[in-house]
Amino acid sequence: MTKYVFVTGGVVSGLGKGITASSLALLLKSRGYKVFMQKFDPYFNIDPGTMNPIQHGEVFVTYDGCETDLDLGHYERFIDEELNYTSNITSGKIYSSVIEKERHGDYLGATVQLVPHITNEIKNKVYEAGLTSKADIVITEIGGTVGDIESQAFIETLRQIQYEKGPQETAFVHTTLIPYVVGSNELKTKPTQNSVKDLQNMGIRPNFLVCRTPFSTSDAIKEKLSLFCSIPKENIIDCVDAKNIYDIPINLHEQGIDELILKQFNLPVNKANLKYWEDLLKTMDSLDKEVEIALVGKYVELHDAYLSVAESLRHAGYKYHTKVNINWVNSENLEKENVNLKEIFKNTKGILVPGGFGNRGIEGKIKAIKYARENNVPFLGICLGMQLSVIEFARNVCNLEGANSTEFDPLAKEPIIDLMSDQKTVINMGGTLRLGNYNCKLKKGTLAYNDYKTEDIKERHRHRYEFNNKYKELLEEHGMVFSGINEESNLVEIIEIPKLKHFIACQFHPEFKSRPTRPHPLFDSFVKSCIEN
Ligand code: GLN
Repeated sequence: MTKYVFVTGGVVSGLGKGITASSLALLLKSRGYKVFMQKFDPYFNIDPGTMNPIQHGEVFVTYDGCETDLDLGHYERFIDEELNYTSNITSGKIYSSVIEKERHGDYLGATVQLVPHITNEIKNKVYEAGLTSKADIVITEIGGTVGDIESQAFIETLRQIQYEKGPQETAFVHTTLIPYVVGSNELKTKPTQNSVKDLQNMGIRPNFLVCRTPFSTSDAIKEKLSLFCSIPKENIIDCVDAKNIYDIPINLHEQGIDELILKQFNLPVNKANLKYWEDLLKTMDSLDKEVEIALVGKYVELHDAYLSVAESLRHAGYKYHTKVNINWVNSENLEKENVNLKEIFKNTKGILVPGGFGNRGIEGKIKAIKYARENNVPFLGICLGMQLSVIEFARNVCNLEGANSTEFDPLAKEPIIDLMSDQKTVINMGGTLRLGNYNCKLKKGTLAYNDYKTEDIKERHRHRYEFNNKYKELLEEHGMVFSGINEESNLVEIIEIPKLKHFIACQFHPEFKSRPTRPHPLFDSFVKSCIEN
């Protein structure tokens, strides 16, 4: 029988609710339980796929091709489990499915209402995650802050679940803020009291509080919160500001929250195996080298837009005891006429061009790729980064002047990157990209094969355009190698230039599969080359 942990947030957003949820999952997994994670997002987009990364950060893609909230990236990195379509549910998804059922006549003449139709739909999504994952424990994070109008249907559903299943099958963890007020020089509990009252007004009694605070709270504070919120003192946990998010699981574990949750569920409290995580933290704390790597993108003002890419670089750094410092380069700035690339890349040991959509900043990225190729600087291109490195090579090495992607110039003279034929009739923007896992066959003797050390790989995709095979021979004649191919559709997945020290680019997104304890092979070898450069 699956048990359910729900993580809500109070007082303000941005308290690290996702990190708390991931940490709980990691701790329960470390005690031998099979865990699965899920996030509810109250907004009305069906998924974040069509949202601007500057507003929402990166879109994380699951192996089964769902475009999801970036918190799922934290989940996968913490618990090292692949999540799927049951893991990210938005109001948009819930409402559109209820409306579809209504049109189909499934409600047999009933008046369709928020309770029970919308709430039943949400409830089914919770239980579906439990059933399909066969997890012992599902952890569901509710996006937004308690009291938001938009999240009320979700909170009401949780109330019903708490009533139906009771405390042995459900645990409610409320994350809140204990601010420190300068002047009176005190930690203040009132915002937390009020936000627990908000939850109680909606019929939910939280079992645990995880309190974000600048430093450890006192016994007196916990007693006060316990009295006002009807929560046992030992179930009130400090989440002290940490310099590293990966410290949080251990901080929570030391206060016994995982053990308390298991006791509430009447489950055996197996010994926690956290040695691998503690070793990781030790490594992170003792990095004795540094390397600067440039990330050239158009959304660099919001680092979250490239969260998984940045994380993947750092993971590879840990393996080599090296701190990776990212040189965030705005591709649009590179387009200016008299830009001094030597100056911008002065201390840079490697250049990465990540994924992206649309025209803006394209020529700046191409300039950065040209710089990497001409100066033999280690280079990794991802998705759009691969498409642009092909365009750069065609234009500047093969003298194919009109080489472009039809995404930027639909009438390109040399459409070296073009729509796949089955994409030409697509009208809707949402959910219609080439998404999720596809096979890739690696050519022996190449850098790619050397990195993966196997011929058959599967990687996650999120793109609409492809390399146009018409140009393959020409590029090969000039020294480009196509080292990864999807054989089912004959699509190019990886290119490289073997003449150079390290120049490789892939059509898929390796960053979604990197883990702090297990860097992705492409990032691993790229960062290694940067360090050696
Ligand atoms: N815009 C390109 C495409 O749609 C690349 C997408 C990406 O980088 N994720 O194919």
